[in-house]
Amino acid sequence: DAYLGAIEAANDKLNAYIVETPDQARAMAAASDAKLAKGEGGALEGIPLGIKDLFATKGVHTQAASGILHDFKPRYESTVTQNLWDDGAVMLGKLNMDEFAMGSSNETSAYGPVVNPWRSTGSNADLVPGGSSGGSAAAVAAWLCAGATATDTGGSIRQPAAFTGTVGVKPTYGRCSRWGVVAFASSLDQAGPITRDVRDAAILLKSMASVDTKDTTSVDIPVPDYEQALGGSIAGKTIGIPKEYRMDGMPAEIEELWQTGIAWMREAGAEIRDISLPHTKYALPAYYIVAPAEASSNLARYDGVRYGKREPGEDIQALYENTRASGFGQEVQRRIMIGTYVLSAGYYDAYYKQAQRVRTLIKQDFEKVYADGVDAILTPTTPSAAFGVNEMATASPIEMYLNDIFTVTVNMAGLPGMSVPAGLSKDGLPLGLQLIGRPFDEETLFTLGSVIE
Ligand code: GLN
Repeated sequence: DAYLGAIEAANDKLNAYIVETPDQARAMAAASDAKLAKGEGGALEGIPLGIKDLFATKGVHTQAASGILHDFKPRYESTVTQNLWDDGAVMLGKLNMDEFAMGSSNETSAYGPVVNPWRSTGSNADLVPGGSSGGSAAAVAAWLCAGATATDTGGSIRQPAAFTGTVGVKPTYGRCSRWGVVAFASSLDQAGPITRDVRDAAILLKSMASVDTKDTTSVDIPVPDYEQALGGSIAGKTIGIPKEYRMDGMPAEIEELWQTGIAWMREAGAEIRDISLPHTKYALPAYYIVAPAEASSNLARYDGVRYGKREPGEDIQALYENTRASGFGQEVQRRIMIGTYVLSAGYYDAYYKQAQRVRTLIKQDFEKVYADGVDAILTPTTPSAAFGVNEMATASPIEMYLNDIFTVTVNMAGLPGMSVPAGLSKDGLPLGLQLIGRPFDEETLFTLGSVIE
């Protein structure tokens, strides 16, 4: 009731929820109460969560914040959300996001932008919560849910977490099943939690993660009890500081935050080592070939016949065209065009194949430092604090893409990453530090994350 009341009071302003499910929430909570009264119940019994609109929820609107999925209600439940319900969690509703998870500010949503609950000191201007999981991050930061699901293809869990003072974990590719998660770029997409602290993230990820026969890229590695990793010693751990992340024009406050994080690690007994990830500068351009290529293929299924919206036309071709032209927003259309172009016969080798080669080099950069004994890598999560609503959306798309400069490499390499709130900007806005781990070693991230927190 407290969370439903908070949504009632704040959602008109924040626009974090695009679908509210109070009846379902009350029914699920009552079932949890009954279980708890009998001394039963799962790890998340009665915990109210918000679900990013990218996760299919049976019988409940799942629209990927896109016009083309208007009114779509799946007849199936995503594996990640099913895992949460099996552990007793309660669904409060579906959270706003960038359309099909394409964006870094939550301004490409067909349901309007999400407003960050934070304000700069002395200003009342609306700020973005980051994206694409902007609804998840804003809802957690404003106490409109106890925790939220999110997804990260190039930074969409970590960047909004940094912009809202929350914790976001992008697990290793394969840790969480992608089944029932609307596909953006299948080789990069991963589900993960956004929460108010590191412990909640550990609890939520434990429940979300699983191997799944319905997703052949999910991996059969036992899911550890991440909570056990909190507060552990980091003495003797080696933390890599990649010099390529210290880029020209990086604001002084971001550099200072990074130095503070390094000092905390050192004080806690870690060894700090300067490392080089030489292909970092190619990560963003390569990402913006690979991700749109996969997106153009994944989004081919929205044809006006199988899902959601249908615009009539004289023949089937016209039906496709009319549906796709009116159903997809501008950023999604841009991605489809880029993706189709880089996959087309004459350009495939020059762009797509080349980007895949670069991706391998990026992955090898990380493999090399890990083989040399580095346990985890520490960087800033974003090059700035949250920016104003409309500020970037009106700039060029490239400027928006630059927000992901520190996060996309992690997806390209399939590694786990975590953003932890680490301080405030000079304007009083939250800033995050990013931890990058070895494949399937989320535990070390939780241990290190609890040092930063
Ligand atoms: N901002 C990036 C993009 O627009 C990443 C999005 C994501 O991680 N889903 O592609």
